[in-house]
Amino acid sequence: MSIQRNVDLSCFNSFNISCSSSYYSEIYNVAGLENALDFARQRKLECIILGAGSNILFTCDYQGLVLHIKCLGIDIESADGSDKVLVKAAAGENWHQLVTYCLAGGIHGLENLALIPGTVGAAPIQNIGAYGVELEQFLHQVTVYDMQRQQVLTMNQDACEFAYRDSVFKREQRNQLVILDVTLCLSRSTETNTSYQALQQFLEQTMAVELAKVTPRQVFDAVCLIRRSKLPDPKQLGNAGSFFKNPIISRQRCQLLRSQFPNLPVYPTATTDEVKIPAGWLLEQAGWKGRKIGNVGVHQEQSLVLVNYGQGTGLELLELARAMQESVSALYGIDLEAEVRVI
Ligand SMILES: Cc1cc2nc3c(=O)[nH]c(=O)nc-3n(C[C@H](O)[C@H](O)[C@H](O)COP(=O)(O)OP(=O)(O)OC[C@H]3O[C@@H](n4cnc5c(N)ncnc54)[C@H](O)[C@@H]3O)c2cc1C
Repeated sequence: MSIQRNVDLSCFNSFNISCSSSYYSEIYNVAGLENALDFARQRKLECIILGAGSNILFTCDYQGLVLHIKCLGIDIESADGSDKVLVKAAAGENWHQLVTYCLAGGIHGLENLALIPGTVGAAPIQNIGAYGVELEQFLHQVTVYDMQRQQVLTMNQDACEFAYRDSVFKREQRNQLVILDVTLCLSRSTETNTSYQALQQFLEQTMAVELAKVTPRQVFDAVCLIRRSKLPDPKQLGNAGSFFKNPIISRQRCQLLRSQFPNLPVYPTATTDEVKIPAGWLLEQAGWKGRKIGNVGVHQEQSLVLVNYGQGTGLELLELARAMQESVSALYGIDLEAEVRVI
């Protein structure tokens, strides 16, 4: 085990915030994790788990121990006589590389989740989702290390309590369970999910593909093209994707709001008595799109994406996020919840 002191974290977070960690350890396996946790226990240090840092905002130097998850490996298990394939990937694998690896091997399902930055181990934390698909649809089980009980456990899909950008790992078990690997149930069938309207339009209009004949490769290509055209690359402009979740409100409340704001867009949720409101629309109406305040700001095309123009601090970004929340609350009475973890 190697524990480093005063490590610069600016390359380990996609906002490119300059900050450091008092202690830092790269974790390659359970033995290394247990040693690092012993070290922290002896010195009464707090720990945080870090993947690729694409959903974290550091607002200060971290005084505890950063456990940087680096476990690697992918195993594929096909069930005889079935289309189903179990893919087990270690937590430190890159998510997008797993998506491309599966696609190249004729294993389908993850195409809509292409190009989401980050690690495999972080994917269940907020039940990553995009273009009409969420991770929970494929999750078979996760292996975790329980830091309190000091043992390795497996959890099935139900135990993860997935919801929209949420899971038990973000709530009751926050910072208690280290995800070691994730097993996904995928398929060799070439069935695709083109339910998301913007994806459908792109396939039909830009790529001139007939929806009935669309292949997983075409869905993958479409998702990559759309994402590259819409989202800033963190290597060029620090960001963490959507900073806020889309709020979910009751249908009753929505009707009241719509009587005041007839153009308010509304999307269905899994339950009939609630609807989802696009946070980006609320922020755009509140005048945030493209605003620049000092070294930070809101992306020119995406009012949900906060950006660091280079020298911005985590506190500047947090202040901006709070001002955005306050203005939406004052205008619409809706509280925006951060999707990004603030440290
Ligand atoms: C340009 C851009 C676009 C994005 N688009 C999307 C999108 O379309 N959909 C979407 O859902 N998200 C999106 N995101 C957010 C981000 O990519 C995901 O949340 C991703 O899963 C974060 O992975 P990470 O490894 O970077 O996690 P980190 O940022 O390192 O960590 C995120 C959280 O997970 C915890 N964590 C990390 N690894 C583990 C582990 N092994 N065990 C336990 N806890 C762990 C951390 O403690 C932290 O709380 C986007 C981000 C960016 C920058």
